[in-house]
Amino acid sequence: MIANPLAPSWLVRPVDANALDSRLWSTGVARGSSGELNVAGVPVSDLVSDFGTPLYVIDEADARHRAAHIQESFVSAFANTRATVTVYYAGKAFLSAEVARWMVEEGLSIDVASGGELAVALAAGVPPERMGFHGNNKSAEEIDRAVSVGIGAIVIDSEIEIERVAEAAVRHGVVQSVRLRANSGVNAHTHEYLATAMEDQKFGIALTGIPAAVAKIRLHESLNFLGLHSHIGSQIFDAGGFLEAISRLMAVHAALLESGAVPELNIGGGFGIAYTSADDVPLVCAIADEIAASVVREAQRWKVDVPDIAVEPGRSIIGPAGLTLYTVGTIKDVEVHSDAGIALRKYVSVDGGMSDNVRTSLYQADYTARIANRTSAEPPVLVRVAGKHCESGDIVVRDDYLPGDVSAGDVLAVAATGAYCWSLASNYNYLRRPAVVAVSDGSARVIVRGDTEADLLSKDAGLDATRNAEGATR
Ligand code: PLP
Repeated sequence: MIANPLAPSWLVRPVDANALDSRLWSTGVARGSSGELNVAGVPVSDLVSDFGTPLYVIDEADARHRAAHIQESFVSAFANTRATVTVYYAGKAFLSAEVARWMVEEGLSIDVASGGELAVALAAGVPPERMGFHGNNKSAEEIDRAVSVGIGAIVIDSEIEIERVAEAAVRHGVVQSVRLRANSGVNAHTHEYLATAMEDQKFGIALTGIPAAVAKIRLHESLNFLGLHSHIGSQIFDAGGFLEAISRLMAVHAALLESGAVPELNIGGGFGIAYTSADDVPLVCAIADEIAASVVREAQRWKVDVPDIAVEPGRSIIGPAGLTLYTVGTIKDVEVHSDAGIALRKYVSVDGGMSDNVRTSLYQADYTARIANRTSAEPPVLVRVAGKHCESGDIVVRDDYLPGDVSAGDVLAVAATGAYCWSLASNYNYLRRPAVVAVSDGSARVIVRGDTEADLLSKDAGLDATRNAEGATR
């Protein structure tokens, strides 16, 4: 069979479009004897009948295992040094009370990036001293709350924040530990919007400005300087960017040690995951080993102790543990004319879209889909899985192959949607944000409730039911 000319060059037409590439799906995903997908022992038909679609599904054991594995990988990579290792789960990838508790139970700390994330983690019972607080524009209220609850560390992102955090610490009579976010200038070779340490962007302070900023921090008795923080981007496959950043940071770290203590180095998160079979992802333990070797090398070069290490993975813990279930609604074969002739693209439209997964339109992200309720012996055809929003860019899976008889009513599973899907979700077109269920040991439970129609209407101050004191008087 000739490949569809509309298929991108990286996409290989599978022999069997029912097959599951184990690198893309959580460890609990398998097809049962009927061909239906199960997640941690729960058939998707049960998930769909109990919770409806669209539905985010998280394989709890898989998420816990990935969290523990990253922690072990970094601890073992630095085992020959005296450095301690702290792994923060980056809550921006996906945060709910349950997930925060899983992470803490697995020995991780939690990185929050807003007052809202802080509130969720606190409400979940995460000890504040096991949290770090990020953000390039934290409000006065956010800083005040973080300091008042005794947050473990605040990552200062700009000079103006030094005074703000110092004053909050004085107000609350505490000494607040802080890191300083450095912009290492390293380009992480990922999507432009995911790269966070190239020069021309909003995060951190350029390396040339670090000594003066640290000197200012050290002038404040209410601040305790922990060290530099760097996060070079997200969905990174190549350790090279981390190694370059470490080399640049350790030079500054060593210089800072001449005028005071610098116990720690935080190298952020960003470890990539496989979204399609074309993604060749290095093992996290291999990256951890390369990072450790580089930190040790640079410490020797500058004749300083190996600093305590902190990392902040999000996507690599929760991304592959999640999948999204959708129901197929409409199907269209669209003729596409090009120099190569006429080709057909099958548009498979589902009951969600860019409101539950904006990454495809925002980052041109690629995903993998499979029919989840059955297998099919029909030959694979090129499909585009589209959403139901009023945007032609509303695409969930840009290119994949599905069995040619994919039909209305089929349930599609899209792999690796645990990170940056629910957390970036919206109510565009007044779609209801789907529920998130956690699945473990053959049973499923809601960990984040989906929106109801009443939720959607509840904020509209033009409706009688909500014309209450808060809305009407402002
Ligand atoms: N730390 C910081 C400062 C971030 O901005 C991010 C994500 O953008 C992360 C950690 C987590 O990155 P990832 O989910 O790619 O591991």
